[in-house]
Amino acid sequence: MAIIEVLPRRLRERIEQLGAIGRDPAGGLTRLPFAPAHVEALQRSAQMMREAGLDAGVDEFGNLIGRRAGRRDAALLAGSHLDTVPQGGIFDGALGVVAAIECAQVLHDAGRPLQHSLVVMAFADEEGHAFGVGTMSSRALVGELGRSRLAQLRDGTGRSVDEYLRARAHGLPAARVPAEVDAYVELHIEQGPVLEQMGRTVAAVESITGILRAPVVIEGRAAHAGTTSMPGRADALVGAADLVLAVRELALAERGRAVGTIGRVHVQPGATNVIPGRVDLTVELRSPEAKVLETLRGAVEDRAHKIAGLHGLKMAWGTWDHSPPVPLDPRVREAVVGAIERCGHPPLTLPSWAGHDAGVLSRYVPAGMIFVVSTGGLSHSPDERTPWDAVETGAQVLLETLLLLDEAPGMNRRLPLAYTTR
Ligand SMILES: [Zn+2]
Repeated sequence: MAIIEVLPRRLRERIEQLGAIGRDPAGGLTRLPFAPAHVEALQRSAQMMREAGLDAGVDEFGNLIGRRAGRRDAALLAGSHLDTVPQGGIFDGALGVVAAIECAQVLHDAGRPLQHSLVVMAFADEEGHAFGVGTMSSRALVGELGRSRLAQLRDGTGRSVDEYLRARAHGLPAARVPAEVDAYVELHIEQGPVLEQMGRTVAAVESITGILRAPVVIEGRAAHAGTTSMPGRADALVGAADLVLAVRELALAERGRAVGTIGRVHVQPGATNVIPGRVDLTVELRSPEAKVLETLRGAVEDRAHKIAGLHGLKMAWGTWDHSPPVPLDPRVREAVVGAIERCGHPPLTLPSWAGHDAGVLSRYVPAGMIFVVSTGGLSHSPDERTPWDAVETGAQVLLETLLLLDEAPGMNRRLPLAYTTR
């Protein structure tokens, strides 16, 4: 059979077209979910989908869906998200959407039928910036966020998710994701430095990181910063500083298998001449390995206990919010690795240190991801870059993955869709 190839020029044009929607005067792209720029990106992507021979529409959770019928009912899903962080880059999310549309386009242009129906997904809210819930749209799709929760979640303008969804400002027809899904595949930029450091272009993702987050309150004694002698103090911020360094040291000791961050610190009373009496902070730990994550949590708690004793402080830990590591489907991963080899690149698998819609869908149907190199490991930045030849490689690997999965026997797996309308 003739080799079908993605068109690099069209990929670049479409990524740049979407990259022009939501330009922020402060730099980069700001395309928050349901805001006018996001609506425009949705409409532009729907037009691309129609050019690729797909039926385009939007479901009741704001996800853009492009569908091409196959011989069987079961679907292969491919895509990513169209929202960005404030002042983000042009590749995060848009790459996976445009590449999936390109796969549909070349199959359409070549008149190549598939066994499966092919469904291109553009999730509305992955980043979680406007409403504070990451991978919101995919979680809503599978019923992990109920209607009442969506009615409570509000953005900076005070509007709820539910209000935006009912308004359907995009004016596109209604559509639904099919329930019978044999696989979901997402092409994404790595957002880290590993591929570049290895001199590689593309990898299959083996797992999505687990994340533990806990709020901590450290209480000492606020007192005069001049009249209180150094040995007589119970300085909550000194305890917090020791904890910051301890998290760093303990995560480093896991030798690349974990990371740890304290990114939020609130000091009270926060006055120049008062010893800090109270600090509120959040500890975040990540690892793609459940055991490493547990060990690190224990080590951090032990050390925190010692730090509190050393400085005469009270340290109260809130409940750990836990999203466990998600191993991606081995069969989809094998297809991605096979596709990477077909495209003339050496096989490679990596964990993902960031969350993705693929992690949500993988709880219900076989899911996999393809990473392409991020220049300087940068993302969530106006300086986010991926070389155009790597974009082409990633899209071609996505196409080959879909072709390999199309030949595989059906999995008979279903998404627990939370649609209320028929
Ligand atoms: Zn993303």
